[in-house]
Amino acid sequence: MSDSCCGTTASLELEQIATSSATGALPVVVIGAGPVGLAAAAHLAERGQDFLVLEAGEQVAASVARWGHVRVFSPWKFNIDAAARRLLKADGWSEPDPEWLPTGAELITDYLAPLAKLFGDKVRLHTKVTAISRLGYDRVRTNGREDVPFLIRLDGGEELRARAIIDASGTYVTPNVLGASGLPAHGENSVEVDHALPDVLGADRERYEGRHTLVVGAGHSAATTLLALAELEDSQITWAIRATDAGRTYGGGGADALPARGAIGTRLRAHVDSGRITLVTGFFAHSVTRSGGQAIVVSRDPSGVEQSVTVDRIVAATGYRPDHSIAAELRLDLDPILGSTRQLAPLIDPNQHSCGTVPAHGVDELSHPEQGYYAVGVKSYGRAPTFLMATGYEQVRSVVAAVAGDWEAARDVQLDLPETGVCSSNLAEAQEQRVGLATGISGGLLATPLPLATVGASTDGGGCCG
Ligand SMILES: Cc1cc2nc3c(=O)[nH]c(=O)nc-3n(C[C@H](O)[C@H](O)[C@H](O)COP(=O)(O)OP(=O)(O)OC[C@H]3O[C@@H](n4cnc5c(N)ncnc54)[C@H](O)[C@@H]3O)c2cc1C
Repeated sequence: MSDSCCGTTASLELEQIATSSATGALPVVVIGAGPVGLAAAAHLAERGQDFLVLEAGEQVAASVARWGHVRVFSPWKFNIDAAARRLLKADGWSEPDPEWLPTGAELITDYLAPLAKLFGDKVRLHTKVTAISRLGYDRVRTNGREDVPFLIRLDGGEELRARAIIDASGTYVTPNVLGASGLPAHGENSVEVDHALPDVLGADRERYEGRHTLVVGAGHSAATTLLALAELEDSQITWAIRATDAGRTYGGGGADALPARGAIGTRLRAHVDSGRITLVTGFFAHSVTRSGGQAIVVSRDPSGVEQSVTVDRIVAATGYRPDHSIAAELRLDLDPILGSTRQLAPLIDPNQHSCGTVPAHGVDELSHPEQGYYAVGVKSYGRAPTFLMATGYEQVRSVVAAVAGDWEAARDVQLDLPETGVCSSNLAEAQEQRVGLATGISGGLLATPLPLATVGASTDGGGCCG
């Protein structure tokens, strides 16, 4: 293929690509077999669309498996996609108790693994997507662009073609950094920093027992990890936050709208007040160095004042960010703050919304200038911390309808969640186990009330909390 931009030969070659590759006959490729990727597969299967799900991990929902010990806060009835439910029921599956809060591991064994099994070899494990482009087209070339297939490169070098791409690759594998300004702290990449929500009282216990651990972050992942660490009798715990006090993490205590959230805050506050947990405020992680088996973490605040802590282990509970690098050759129109689409950003921006309510949204809010590419699921929210599986299920129902050409269904978006909220706090308290209740979402859902009500497509100004 010539790189020439003006010659007749080049245009002929492009026409040949468009006609010879028969784009319409190609599968829709779903990237990621998490809850939302598999829900997309269910909708594609129901609509008789050819598809392929590519999953980097060695099992389906590999990211959920990493927080498998954590009990989620939304009961089963909100965690199962409608198309998936129909397919599973037709196969003789017995639905889990709709009011029960599963762990991440139960989400997989009782729902996602049986669902993936229905799709057989249409779900490929150990298959990491490293790049996406359009066949014969780099990002700059326009004429006829939408007529050629997508090109998907895998980590083994294999290349696949697709007529549309539903990117449900999540954000869990790209956590935010320790560094306070969004850049890695100096030396951060050369010391061992643990990902949020380690299984402190289970599989990872040995790493923390008898050690001094620094937890960085002010969300409920941090709170959950701190409470678990406090149960290890001989552990020493330091908790570092950027804010000048921990009020936001403590929440409303006994007066809190969500009792479980209040309980977490109250317990955490009690540990801080008793001295069990040392709280360090105004902490802006600047550098990390190793010294005799320990790590020295230095904070430098915006005025240049430094403080430091010396610890054995560091847990970064600072949230997640999307990785759009695989789509660098596609034409994405990303919100400069969140990294979601621009249309979705005002509906979910945590600077604007203090609650987790999210208006219904679908294909229109998820579209990029690159026709046929959709980032869905938690990746679609970019850095906004309030994503819910139920929201993702509606996203993929809408996107798949559009891909199948059913624009009426695609635009009829609904979020059908009860006024009482998707976070069943009483249940959560009753079922709290091991590491307890957690979202893994920095400043996330349990940090704010979540009265998700049925909302139509009309979002008048995008307000959610009124
Ligand atoms: C601890 C925790 C608790 C949560 N609790 C709740 C809850 O109670 N209720 C709720 O509604 N939401 C909850 N969430 C939020 C959200 O619903 C989950 O994060 C959910 O897993 C998001 O689903 P997803 O399919 O979008 O992404 P993920 O579950 O992250 O799945 C992405 C998949 O893509 C794969 N992948 C990544 N990169 C590639 C690649 N390049 N090529 C191929 N495959 C790739 C990954 O291996 C993974 O399997 C919670 C989140 C966390 C972290």
